[in-house]
Amino acid sequence: MARVVMKFGGTSVGDLDRIRNVARRVKSEVDAGHEVAVVVSAMAGETNKLVGFCRDLAPLHDVREYDVVVATGEQVTIGLLAMALQDLGVRARSWAGWQLPIHTDGAHSRARIVGIETAVLLQRMAGGEVAVVAGFQGMGPDGRVTTLGRGGSDTSAVALAAAIKADICDIYTDVDGVYTTDPRIVARARKLEKITYEEMLESASLGAKVLQVRSVEMAMKHGVRVQVRSSFSDATGTIICDEDEIVEKELVSGITYSRDEAKITLVNVPDRPGVAAAIFGPLTEANINVDMIVQNISRGIGATDMTFTVSRDDFGRAVKVLESRQKQLGYAELVTDPDVAKVSVVGVGMRSHAGVAQTMFGALAEKGINIQVISTSEIKVSVLIAEEYTELAVRSLHTAYRLDA
Ligand code: ADP
Ligand code: ASP
Ligand code: MG
Repeated sequence: MARVVMKFGGTSVGDLDRIRNVARRVKSEVDAGHEVAVVVSAMAGETNKLVGFCRDLAPLHDVREYDVVVATGEQVTIGLLAMALQDLGVRARSWAGWQLPIHTDGAHSRARIVGIETAVLLQRMAGGEVAVVAGFQGMGPDGRVTTLGRGGSDTSAVALAAAIKADICDIYTDVDGVYTTDPRIVARARKLEKITYEEMLESASLGAKVLQVRSVEMAMKHGVRVQVRSSFSDATGTIICDEDEIVEKELVSGITYSRDEAKITLVNVPDRPGVAAAIFGPLTEANINVDMIVQNISRGIGATDMTFTVSRDDFGRAVKVLESRQKQLGYAELVTDPDVAKVSVVGVGMRSHAGVAQTMFGALAEKGINIQVISTSEIKVSVLIAEEYTELAVRSLHTAYRLDA
């Protein structure tokens, strides 16, 4: 007997037939004698629709009320799934985030889980009842509903698995595992049997949206065993685990891309100590994250160009902040380009191998793709390119690193 958390994403609960399909899968785990908690997302498209309502009604809406609206999608699916389970003769009960409760901080629309009360849940699970828990939502310090940021049901599931010490957290989705790159873009992407927490964390933060970044952080911190697998087939999925569990390490585990980038260049900034602090300080104050940065060398004229990227959502605000400070910062011109993408190569094998970046630069050069900015860490190399070349770049790199199936 094991204790399992099963999480189903939006596509997996996209209509009533799919909810019935989920109920059958849950029933087979119950029939095998396991204690089961299920975490569900809203039906596919629902959260987008709800977010759209908020944006259309009031672009500068109160995020507390945004949470009240967007959290409703998951309330529908927990109720429907509990009914579908009961229909199959399985004892089941739904739980909204505030009912357990799942405690979060007060950062509405991107709250973090701080604790989950599990006593009642565990008691009922031990008695054979399936707990159907709403993903994506929790309760803030003031008792109001909060949400965890887009894709947050993954984090709800991993947090619940950690809290109830589940043997496994199965993330059921519309692909049958983690691939070497997004299988929707590269048909020859290969499914990985295992991937390290570190690689998955890096890939998720660089754009592989198969898991929310925070869910991987949490799994790594609490040692939760996570498997990404398909709701629509019985194929074994991909296990996310510690590095020492992987015998045959790949040099590169995957290629990721993110179109959520915008580039800003300040031309002829005075080249003196404190200038970076003067530029990035106000952006930080405005809660804008800066990602890649390059500062060009001064050519003896006491001035330099500073190029960096921000997320597209923050682009407009970032430009406003910088324009309002042109005098203090002393730059000559502000040049922007929102049509850029970041493509990255990720792998723990890079730590011990030279030449990984060179393969990337060579493959992009061969396709005539210009690299605008480069950034590296121990286990990744990222480049910024024109957005129109994203797919070409991802495919070429996939081939260059011999990842094609
Ligand atoms: P869910 O609604 O189940 O949470 P998501 O849409 O959030 O599903 O995540 C699954 C999607 O992630 C897949 O359909 C796939 O297109 C995308 N994806 C991006 N990168 C990868 C990758 N490396 N491996 C698998 N899927 C990926
Ligand atoms: N329904 C939420 C979203 O679309 C949470 C999730 O699906 O993980 O972002
Ligand atoms: Mg998701």
